Amino acid sequence: MKPEERLSSGAIPIAYEIKTCFGAKGCPNSLNRSFDLIPALEEVVKNSQLDEFIKNKLKNQPLRPHHRLKVSVSDCPNGCSQLYIADFGLHGFVKVKWDSKLCNFCEECVHVCEEEALKRVDQKIRIDRKKCVGCGACIKACPNGVLKETFKGYKIYVGGKLGRHPRLASFLTYALPEEIPVYLEKLLSFYKEYNEKGERTGTIIEKLGWQKAKKLILTR
Ligand code: SF4
Ligand code: SF4
Ligand code: SF4
Repeated sequence: MKPEERLSSGAIPIAYEIKTCFGAKGCPNSLNRSFDLIPALEEVVKNSQLDEFIKNKLKNQPLRPHHRLKVSVSDCPNGCSQLYIADFGLHGFVKVKWDSKLCNFCEECVHVCEEEALKRVDQKIRIDRKKCVGCGACIKACPNGVLKETFKGYKIYVGGKLGRHPRLASFLTYALPEEIPVYLEKLLSFYKEYNEKGERTGTIIEKLGWQKAKKLILTR
């Protein structure tokens, strides 16, 4: 039975879901290959016995879609998998570096950046790190190979949810693809330790406060 299927009572059979955007199926914006990550994330979730844990916490309540712990992966900052409302959300991210030696100041990169994060200032292309979302479009647009990736991985967000008290996920950290399963283990360990009755990660974070919760997740 697939996770999205429902029983005749309206309840659902599995207490978690892991989903990706369709980037790996040929989206031109894709930075990473989230499909490659999925088996490792599924293994972490299975090893944590999350399904049994959530069902036990709910006691006799039927398992509903809003109880489900959600893992969501997008291959670029456009976030088509709705990662900002997931318990553990990821989006692909690249960090860009400009090198002065080869630049002819054609400003292709400046025009292509939808965030207005690039600007020519005298004989330099300045990158505003606060505006840059790490989509990599400027790298592709540069005809001279001047802009380079210095990091290619994911931004991790935690604690997003909808429901009666919606909450957008909070940025936790940057991570390389091979580091992601370890961060999911940390999140699940935190979730299980502080969970009282099957509430979502975002509810636990709201109770503890983000700074405390962040420390508790990262230091385990
Ligand atoms: S999140 Fe990015 S890579 Fe994934 S489908 Fe959307 S635009 Fe494409
Ligand atoms: S990576 Fe994307 S957002 Fe960042 S400077 Fe390049 S085009 Fe702009
Ligand atoms: S697109 Fe490349 S060559 Fe043109 S201004 Fe930007 S960095 Fe320089």
